[in-house]
Amino acid sequence: MQPILKISHLTKSYSNRENLIQDFSLDLFENEIISIVGPSGSGKSTILKMIGGHEKSSSGNIYLMGKDITNIPAFRREINTVFQDLALFPHLSVKENISFPLKMKGLNKSLIETKVNQMMINVQLNNQGNVSIDSLSGGEQQRVAIARSVIGKPKVLLCDEPLSKLDNILKEDLLNFLIEFFIKQKMSIIYVTHDQEEAILLSDKIIVINEGKIIQSGKPDEILSNPVDSFVAKFFRTHNIFELKRNQKGYFENDFIKFESNSSKNKLLIGISLDKFQLSDENHTNIINKIQCQIISKINKNNHINLRVLVSNQIIYVRLPLSSKINNSKGESIYLYYNVKDIKIFET
Ligand code: ADP
Repeated sequence: MQPILKISHLTKSYSNRENLIQDFSLDLFENEIISIVGPSGSGKSTILKMIGGHEKSSSGNIYLMGKDITNIPAFRREINTVFQDLALFPHLSVKENISFPLKMKGLNKSLIETKVNQMMINVQLNNQGNVSIDSLSGGEQQRVAIARSVIGKPKVLLCDEPLSKLDNILKEDLLNFLIEFFIKQKMSIIYVTHDQEEAILLSDKIIVINEGKIIQSGKPDEILSNPVDSFVAKFFRTHNIFELKRNQKGYFENDFIKFESNSSKNKLLIGISLDKFQLSDENHTNIINKIQCQIISKINKNNHINLRVLVSNQIIYVRLPLSSKINNSKGESIYLYYNVKDIKIFET
């Protein structure tokens, strides 16, 4: 099967910024959602701008349905972008904003009317067609922007952090809306975000980038269960990362973890998954890898007890089953243990 969008070895340098994007490639298939995830400044928007035709690439190629569009201007690409700042027309009504791309295409009035009315139902704005943009809430404006971007049925939709300016409650509502909307609209999407949760919930595939380079790509489950390095593990908070130093006896240790390895290095970066810590009891003398820590927070979320504990100035994140009995509260001590077999070596 041919990908709808193929990006091949794309790079970008500015005169004052060499190698901003290095060798970026991806294949996007029909009806697939790929998220590009990375910290602020890692180059996500630059990649999206090059795909949308709003920025020139330094080298590499972009193919849409097999055709090289690398040097084709944005308006002829059949690729639309939902920008962070929406770029709506403030002097036009909701309906006029949404119908704008169809008018530009020269569709007849009655066809535009039918399509726009259907789209307003799809984005749950059917009673607000004549309302001005200014009178809408942030979430409603966002839905107008999305409607305007998809109404012309672009081959690929690009989304540049469309939820990042919304408060948490609105963000969750709109995320749920997007998940359903994208499935119904059957679109091929590249979605840029610095929010791991958003990426996990929305995407078929995630590409993790840092400093303009692809660090890992795969299905959300693959990335969560097998992060390739400590950066990905930290970013998706799958593992607690610990730096261990070699002691005189040849073991690797910090103040609360001891680990045997035949590495010849002096330092070792290891990870322990949030799920791999278990509750212990102060009196369990036969448990070797026991850590005394102080509870910083205890929150029941997503069918787990999520603990943050402090030990030797390091915070450890722990995810326990809801059935776990924790009688201690914030500020009090708790005992945890881990199995050495659950230690993942990230860097030696
Ligand atoms: P992200 O979307 O991941 O936050 P961006 O792609 O917006 O990252 O920016 C990545 C880096 O590229 C930033 O450090 C930014 O300052 C730099 N950058 C963006 N545009 C230009 C430009 N026109 N000239 C020089 N540097 C730029």
